[in-house]
Amino acid sequence: MRHQASYLAVSALFCSTLIATGAAPAAAHGGPPPIPLPPKTAVATGYGGAVASVSPYATQIGIDVLAHGGNAVDAAVATAAALGVVEPFSSGIGGGGFFVYYDARTHKVTTIDGRESGPAAFTSTVFIDPGTGQPLAFNDAVNSGLSVGVPGTLMTWQEALDAWGTRPLGEELQPAAKLAERGFTVTGDFNGGVAMNQQRFSDITPTAQLYLPGGQVPAVGSVFRNPDLAATYELIAQKGIGVFYGGELASEIANTAQHPPMTPTSDRVFRPGVITAADIAGYTAPYTAPTHVSYDGLDVYSMGPPSSGGTTVGEALNVLTQLKNSGWQLNYTTQAQQVASLQAYLEASRVAFADRNRWVADPAFENVPTAGLLSPAFAASRACLISPTKTLTSPLTPGDPNNPSTTCQAQTQQTPNTSTEGLSTTHLVAADRWGNVVSYTLTIEQTGGSAMVVPHRGFLLNNEMTDFDFTAIHPPAPDPNLPAAGKRPRSSMAPTIILRDGRPYLVVGSPGGASIITTVLQVLLNRLDFGMSLPDAIAAPRISQRDRSVTEAEPAFLSSPLDPALTAIGQNFVPAPPAFTPAPELGAATGLEFLGDGRIQAAAEPQRRFGGSAMVVFPSPSE
Ligand code: GLU
Repeated sequence: MRHQASYLAVSALFCSTLIATGAAPAAAHGGPPPIPLPPKTAVATGYGGAVASVSPYATQIGIDVLAHGGNAVDAAVATAAALGVVEPFSSGIGGGGFFVYYDARTHKVTTIDGRESGPAAFTSTVFIDPGTGQPLAFNDAVNSGLSVGVPGTLMTWQEALDAWGTRPLGEELQPAAKLAERGFTVTGDFNGGVAMNQQRFSDITPTAQLYLPGGQVPAVGSVFRNPDLAATYELIAQKGIGVFYGGELASEIANTAQHPPMTPTSDRVFRPGVITAADIAGYTAPYTAPTHVSYDGLDVYSMGPPSSGGTTVGEALNVLTQLKNSGWQLNYTTQAQQVASLQAYLEASRVAFADRNRWVADPAFENVPTAGLLSPAFAASRACLISPTKTLTSPLTPGDPNNPSTTCQAQTQQTPNTSTEGLSTTHLVAADRWGNVVSYTLTIEQTGGSAMVVPHRGFLLNNEMTDFDFTAIHPPAPDPNLPAAGKRPRSSMAPTIILRDGRPYLVVGSPGGASIITTVLQVLLNRLDFGMSLPDAIAAPRISQRDRSVTEAEPAFLSSPLDPALTAIGQNFVPAPPAFTPAPELGAATGLEFLGDGRIQAAAEPQRRFGGSAMVVFPSPSE
């Protein structure tokens, strides 16, 4: 079922190209100087293509690809490779992700499932401590070889380029390899990514050597080089991805996870992993169908299972459509209307999360009712639970999309929902002059992943396997997200592309664990219903309800009059968890809007994650 890559022939081709052109990274010492930090703006409008990501280095590399004739897929891969250098605690070839692509020639949206998969030795009890019979503490699982799944990112890049790109992977890796070799300026989020992981990074020898030089967190403004990663990218460029999926890198990844390279002084218990080189050799990143719902006449496409992003955003939008059809107005004109609109948003998200938790998992292993979850009939059976004056009590009993209820009765489950998903990940968007569009979310799960850098290879391994439930969350109800051999854990990533009259209109995505879903949903509502521009829709304060008794909120929301007004009807707000920046935050979105006059507006965060970077190839004269 999984699509098998045909990379060997391609790699042989570009191997000779590279040798012929002598494209090798510059020497670190006595060589060219570090690459200066490009200017950073959160919004750009213009023509000829656009890119937005969390990093000006990565965005600039994508724009350069577009400016030199590459298409959106070429640009997305080059941008992602650069994020592996400058945003290595959120992404990289040790992780996975989901790639959503609109093709201007066929007018079709296709997705690539680059999710990490479970090793062959996985069973449903892999995260149960055999000594106690109890699930491992979450952090003990994160900090273990067991958390490492088969990485999917490199295969995703190869599949995307094979299907839609115009350049070989080896060429797309060159700018990132150069960045890693020559060095780049340490930014706040890079510094913060190390600082928040200092303790566990110091427990792993190759991680401490790379990211804690001299035992110190790299200072903001200093220059950081990763020649090992530059050499790894070069190796892949020359030998093709077979060197990773079946070659020497596969063996080294497996060896690292099976024998975590602890520092001699570490007293951390770091359980060994079970991933093998054969697991990595057997990996595939299949092309899959996107999810689709209609919302206000727009076609909303996103990522299907094993991500719950598309089904949960889609179900919530369908629930909101039902509410609107029954007379509920979504707009931001008065404070009363803001309260009513946010109540609809929070409650639609609450019910959609209850259903997500029960039904969504890897469709290769579980019977996931994607069509049912996205059906208007099911949305109607869930929308009728929602009241403008009274908040539902979580955790809700899920609905049955195979058999939508005809009675409207909300029920509460006994076991509380806990959220253990990380807050890392990164999202990029790219569009080209021909109208092709990419929305791509990639991750290594937690910020810093499993904390294990593969010795001498310069990249971190993911801890994506901790996205599995360690035990059933609502027994005796079945839990589709238990671990199994070859299975992919449920994700929340929601890279989204919206078409209007069959043409790209809006593109959005975000990191943030399960709050990815609410971030994407809230940005869409801000733009589509509340009349905000895309940059304002991204900047606005966020709140995140995920079928829990509490709703996470950013500080700007907690100090607004909306907090007490919604609290009065039963919502219960708590501060969002600590993040990269001193202030708690939810997500770090990037997006594109096609303005209808040939211009594209690219938007990133103005503040969150220290601000992102949006660029276009040819800025509008007013820019
Ligand atoms: N592992 C998470 C997921 O797949 C993403 C982590 C994050 O965004 O921080 O949903």
